[in-house]
Amino acid sequence: MVELRAIRSQQPQLASAVDLHLEILEVQRRVQGRVPLPQFQITADSIRRHQASATPLLRFEDIPLDLSDLRLMVRQTADVLRRYGALEEGDYRKVQSLGRDMQLFDVTGQWYRSGLAHQVAAVGIPASNSFTELDGADVIDQVLTVSMRPFLSRCAEVLQQRPELSSWTHSHCALCGGQPDLSVITPSAERHLICGRCELRWKWESLACPYCRNSDRSKITSFATSDGQYRVYACDMCRRYLKAYDGRRASRPVMPIVDAVATLPLDAAAIQRGYNS
Ligand SMILES: [Zn+2]
Ligand SMILES: [Zn+2]
Repeated sequence: MVELRAIRSQQPQLASAVDLHLEILEVQRRVQGRVPLPQFQITADSIRRHQASATPLLRFEDIPLDLSDLRLMVRQTADVLRRYGALEEGDYRKVQSLGRDMQLFDVTGQWYRSGLAHQVAAVGIPASNSFTELDGADVIDQVLTVSMRPFLSRCAEVLQQRPELSSWTHSHCALCGGQPDLSVITPSAERHLICGRCELRWKWESLACPYCRNSDRSKITSFATSDGQYRVYACDMCRRYLKAYDGRRASRPVMPIVDAVATLPLDAAAIQRGYNS
């Protein structure tokens, strides 16, 4: 929160984005304090098996999910997003009715499994997933990503401590199957991907595109901010880009929410060059 407020004073044009994220953090923090440690078993053997089959370790059934807390997260997230103009009225109503609906649990399960469907599609296997066919899937995805973070990040804490995580070689998340939406360059110049859902971090190739696995250097455009703190790797094959926090010249560790806000101008630059997040 201190870091977010620092962004607001250094870059006043980001004030509204900072305030939005401060409110989201507050909502997440209240729920996160109540999430119990997950009961699922991680063993060296299970990590090996999941690495071999490229399937994420955490099943939806094993998430320590409290339905009334999830409802609260969905409703409050939708309120905050609407207040800051990030959710239109029609979408807001859709999300609010989902928050009341008995279907919330099922829809969240479909959303959770859709992470892997993206990955299967990226390697050229047609994937069908009932979530992506839902009315308003994009908006529900946005709200559930925020709402599920307190539960998923608790599970990620457990896997993050396991040394066997270093044997995971896929570009999707070992825990939840989600896609990376940020990365960090370590002091030893390795690139670690950060899951956009649970914030798990894992080492991956330092240049290749994690979305389509293009590793042709001539088809990756990379550029940095003027202070060298952040980098963009943009793929000229699938036109997607990934941002990186350059930990080689940093005074603090990567902080996904803070860095997402601080790099909004970088997103604009990448989109202006014709790339998609
Ligand atoms: Zn994840
Ligand atoms: Zn690509």
